Amino acid sequence: MQSIIEIKHLFYRYEKDTVLENINLSIPDGSFLAIVGPNGSGKSTLLKLILGLLKPQKGEIFLFGQEISKFKAWQQIGYVSQKANSFNTGFPATVFEVVASGLTKKLGMFKFFKKEHSRIVLDALDAVGMKNFHNRNIGELSGGQQQRVFIARALVSEPKLLILDEPTVGVDAENVNAFYQMLNDLNKNRGITLLLVTHDIGTISDKVTHVACLNKNMHFHGETSEFEQLKKEDMSKVYGHDVHLIAHNHDHGGVLK
Ligand code: ADP
Repeated sequence: MQSIIEIKHLFYRYEKDTVLENINLSIPDGSFLAIVGPNGSGKSTLLKLILGLLKPQKGEIFLFGQEISKFKAWQQIGYVSQKANSFNTGFPATVFEVVASGLTKKLGMFKFFKKEHSRIVLDALDAVGMKNFHNRNIGELSGGQQQRVFIARALVSEPKLLILDEPTVGVDAENVNAFYQMLNDLNKNRGITLLLVTHDIGTISDKVTHVACLNKNMHFHGETSEFEQLKKEDMSKVYGHDVHLIAHNHDHGGVLK
């Protein structure tokens, strides 16, 4: 199976402090990977490196088989940042307009907005369960609904890989399982490889296919079943030494399969 992302012996430091040390990671096509780790473990730094916003100081990153400095097909990668769902009630844009703004790369500045583009926008909203909200003002929606809209915005360029930074932060506790179900559908039904970053180790492993535990080093990387087995055997191997720093949320709701 082809790797969508391949990271080899990656190091990164800000000034004196090494933040990522000898990271090796391979993300297979079609997988749903969670990178988990406590605050300050290097998750955002790793995302910035993958998105080309920082340059590796040592080691290599390959995207779709191509070394990152030569990679041009950025439309294949969708990214939803952590702050995406923070529009307030006064923000003057409808859900439809927010999602359509993701098409500007394809369209230039909306000069030729056609029926076909309208269909792409509504289809993306459908994929995240928000089609019925297309006329609503973005600021009227809950944090979790806004997050879904921003995922739809990323979907209009038909990415093969979708990267989500702490996507459930603004989602109400009772809606978290439904939110993961929606991500699971994108992964299974649309074949989009998903990479999400979270500090919430407690609940993630029944929702994804692969887990990577980061805490400066990559302490574990593999399929969820191996992760569960190792967790039973040796917590410190899985999480590194800062087990006590990790926020646990024992909300084991439904199992997504
Ligand atoms: P996480 O996303 O897991 O919380 P980060 O990648 O944001 O971790 O941060 C990892 C470490 O790097 C932290 O100790 C943080 O303080 C440090 N760091 C992050 N960004 C910078 C920066 N721009 N300059 C200096 N240190 C930074």
